[in-house]
Amino acid sequence: MRIFDDNGMMIFPSPVMQELRSTSKVLVVRACYCPRGHNLVNDKAMFSEHSGILMRVRKEMSEGLLAISPVYGDKSRISLGMRIENGDVLTLLCPECGVPLPTYDECSCGGDVIALFTRPVPDYGNCVGICNRVGCHNAEIRSGDELLNYANLEHFEIRQTTGSS
Ligand SMILES: [Zn+2]
Ligand SMILES: [Zn+2]
Repeated sequence: MRIFDDNGMMIFPSPVMQELRSTSKVLVVRACYCPRGHNLVNDKAMFSEHSGILMRVRKEMSEGLLAISPVYGDKSRISLGMRIENGDVLTLLCPECGVPLPTYDECSCGGDVIALFTRPVPDYGNCVGICNRVGCHNAEIRSGDELLNYANLEHFEIRQTTGSS
């Protein structure tokens, strides 16, 4: 069993994931950073016992906050201050300093894969990638020379929820 704790991530066994994916491991992002080193994992947005990943989001003229679950496979999200719908392409910003989170790749859906660095320094070798198009399933983890593609596992899917407007 591999543990990514030096990268701010951790794998631990989960019976829920075992049922869902016939895998015994769940990946939880414990820390991820904007290019200026602000930690986006914030206990102001909790998903069960896990602190969520909190970002400022912008779409055309509206701006709000979006928190996504740090647990891979968990599709929960909370949005605040703006309405977010499937298909929306969002600009993702650091909630602390407002700097745009950088693009490191193009997503197959036509959106951008945005890098959340898993260390306080910008390093594309150690980042979590999430697509900025709401509803896209694409997410990737890069850790050192490893590239794990989670595109088929619905990780970080941002789904429409009620009561967000
Ligand atoms: Zn920042
Ligand atoms: Zn995408």
